[in-house]
Amino acid sequence: MSQHFSLDTRSHTAIHIVKGAVVKVLGAKWSTSAYSSRGHGGLTVQYDRKPSEEEIQLIEKQANIKVQENQQIEIYEMSRKMAETRWGQEIYDLFPLPIEIKKLKIFYLPGWNVNTCGKEHTLSTTEVGAIKIKKWRFRAPKRFLELSFDVEY
Ligand SMILES: [Zn+2]
Repeated sequence: MSQHFSLDTRSHTAIHIVKGAVVKVLGAKWSTSAYSSRGHGGLTVQYDRKPSEEEIQLIEKQANIKVQENQQIEIYEMSRKMAETRWGQEIYDLFPLPIEIKKLKIFYLPGWNVNTCGKEHTLSTTEVGAIKIKKWRFRAPKRFLELSFDVEY
């Protein structure tokens, strides 16, 4: 029996899962921002062209395959130096982390997503629930791809 997680926790965890799918489908590695609230979430990544509708559908499909896999999420607390040695710059987003921060919390879903993150997460991917991409847009001048989604039961 799995623990009950709040919608906030589920939609936040979904960001990591969607991000992994975005990297898998488009190769877009750098997040510029992310948000989640209740059952909604959004992610903006840097990308150099407008994706096709099929690619967006594939991102949603890959994210939900990952949800169904019920993969365990690993959380680590370690020195910044150790984390950088293990995963390199992949743990960071485009927004900088202050230099004085020496200890990091790491979200790690092996083979899918690694990111420095101090927020609450579900223990496994299935606890997030189904992910539905509701809207997306590509902002050409900034090369930003914005995705927003809902988590559903
Ligand atoms: Zn997180």
